[in-house]
Amino acid sequence: MNIVIFGPPGAGKGTQSEFIVKKFNLFKLSTGDLLREEINKKTPLGLKITSIVNSGTLVSDEIINSLIENIVSNNDYKKKIIFDGYPRNLSQAENLNKLLFKYNQKIDIVIRLKVSLNIIKKRITGRVVCSKCGKIYNEFFNPVPDNETCCEKKFLQKRDDDNIDVAIKRFETYEKSTEPVIEYYKKMNLVKDVNGEIDIESIYTKINDYLSVIEG
Ligand SMILES: [Zn+2]
Repeated sequence: MNIVIFGPPGAGKGTQSEFIVKKFNLFKLSTGDLLREEINKKTPLGLKITSIVNSGTLVSDEIINSLIENIVSNNDYKKKIIFDGYPRNLSQAENLNKLLFKYNQKIDIVIRLKVSLNIIKKRITGRVVCSKCGKIYNEFFNPVPDNETCCEKKFLQKRDDDNIDVAIKRFETYEKSTEPVIEYYKKMNLVKDVNGEIDIESIYTKINDYLSVIEG
C-alpha cells in the first residue's frame, strides 16, 4: 500500500505518519529528508543540491523527482511508501503517478487531515509553558488542572504572538498549493478526509480504519 498524507502545518501530520509507519511497516518519504541525506552523502547530486541551496534558489522538480525515483524503484520499499509533504503541486502529482506506474505501483489512498485555521491559531496562541517543570498546556484545549501543585499562574509563560502571522501565511500557502493536488486525487477517488481537530488517538483510529480496509 502506498499512501499520501496531507495536512496543514500544525495539524499533527508528523505524529500520525509515525504511527502509520510503525503499524504498517512503511517507508516515510519526505523530500526534506531525501535532500538532507543526499547532501550528507556528498554524492555528485548531493554536491549539486548543496550549491543550489547555498545560492538560495529552490531545488527543481527534476531533482526532487529523481530522488523520489530512487526510492520508488527500490524493491525494499515497493508498495510500502507513505508520501509526507509530497507531491506539493500538480506537476509533481502527475509525475509521481507516472513514476509509480513505471514500477508497477500506484497510490492507494490519500489521507487529508482537516484542521481549520481557527483551531491552528488557538493551538499556537493558547500555548503556555510552565517555567518550573517545562510542562506544556493550552488555555483552550488543555488548561492547567485545578489541583496542579507545580504549575502556578506565576510560572506559566506564553510565547510571543509573532508566530501567529507566520502560521497564518503557512496555512494559506498550504491551502492554495494543495488544492489542485487534492482535486487531482479526488478525480481518482482516492481522497479520505479525516477530522484533525479531535484528539490524537481518535484521529489515528480513523486513519487506521481506512488503511486496514486496503491492507485487509
Ligand atoms: Zn510546572
